Amino acid sequence: MQAEAPLPITVSFVTRRRCSKPSCNGSAVATLTYVYADSTAVLGPLATYAEPHCYDLCSMHSERMTAPLGWEIVRITPDPDALKPSSDDLEALANAVREAARPRYEPGTPLPTEVPPGSIETGRKGHLRMLTSVDSIEPERLPDYDD
Ligand SMILES: [Zn+2]
Repeated sequence: MQAEAPLPITVSFVTRRRCSKPSCNGSAVATLTYVYADSTAVLGPLATYAEPHCYDLCSMHSERMTAPLGWEIVRITPDPDALKPSSDDLEALANAVREAARPRYEPGTPLPTEVPPGSIETGRKGHLRMLTSVDSIEPERLPDYDD
């Protein structure tokens, strides 16, 4: 009896991305990004990296895709004539849209320390001293040592 060796777990980087539609085996040619703040779905060139609110689509599904009710679709379609230099601009635009779709708050960012409204800073410790001029104290507010 020969014990079966456990299969080695291999992590392979996917070079060929597939359409995110269920039961579709087409290779992805475009990336759909939902910009929830603007109710806009942006269909652009294939993203260089996957993000939670991005969906890769094959050519058929990217052509057939329809926006949810009340949403707008912005199709960033490369123009064959304008494509000659490079598609970097389109990619930059698509990446900018993805950047805008990200949540503003990032964990780990320190919140600004502010003095709460209605309170003032009256003194400091450390290398700073708070000095008070005697002339500024009104005589009638001086403590009364009448004994
Ligand atoms: Zn598809």
